[in-house]
Amino acid sequence: MKTFKFIILTSGFLSLSFIAAASLFAGVGEHIPPDHWDYEGERGPDHWVELKRENCKFKTGEMQSPIGISVTERAKLDDIIFHYYPTSLRTINNGHTIQVNYGRGSSIYIGHKKYDLIQFHFHTPSEHVIHGKHYDMEAHLVHKGAHGKLAVVAVLMEKGKENDFIKTLWSNFPKEQGKEHVVADIKINAHQLLPKNTNAYYNYTGSLTTPPCSEIVNWLILKTPIEVSIAEVKKFTSIFKWYARPIQHQHGRVVKESE
Ligand SMILES: [Zn+2]
Repeated sequence: MKTFKFIILTSGFLSLSFIAAASLFAGVGEHIPPDHWDYEGERGPDHWVELKRENCKFKTGEMQSPIGISVTERAKLDDIIFHYYPTSLRTINNGHTIQVNYGRGSSIYIGHKKYDLIQFHFHTPSEHVIHGKHYDMEAHLVHKGAHGKLAVVAVLMEKGKENDFIKTLWSNFPKEQGKEHVVADIKINAHQLLPKNTNAYYNYTGSLTTPPCSEIVNWLILKTPIEVSIAEVKKFTSIFKWYARPIQHQHGRVVKESE
């Protein structure tokens, strides 16, 4: 038994540097904070292998994301109460997307549950497919709640007017991959990413859409899209191209839609 444990520990440590390097390169922390792996527990060595992107497809979980949303159940959902405050612009080009890390102190409330905003990032095209439609892009505002649960607010983005907030972000794309780029004199507020109507949304339980694909996400997909210009979408896709996981089986999950 001791030998067995030793082998596991050794292989764990050997793979540690690889995983750490891979996480920087592949942006593993896409939906989770930088402390996404640990030496024990749910994020311990037994789960490190799951951080490899290709292993997600072997997941047998029945709560994977994204999904196609068409049949819904109307429900009285709590309004999402946003408490977003300005923060210095901190971006990471993780090779797949631009991720904006958010300063402490901003959060959302859903009923009595509080979730702290950690970061937001972008996908192209949208990961969630609404009534058969892919939007041009989808922003994910990732919030961490109690017991490691996440709440991700998804903002659908479609071509239209130029978007000043996106323009600011896109003007500050870090060229170097895997390193946080701080622009202290530019303050941003994630509130600028939200549509005017945040009360209408879809809600279901799912997973991270990147490794380790953990089924810990309360998805809140805002029904009202925001607009971005064709040039802004093109600027993003010229760098990051396709960044969306295919839709996953719903396995009988109910998608609630606010009344
Ligand atoms: Zn995402």
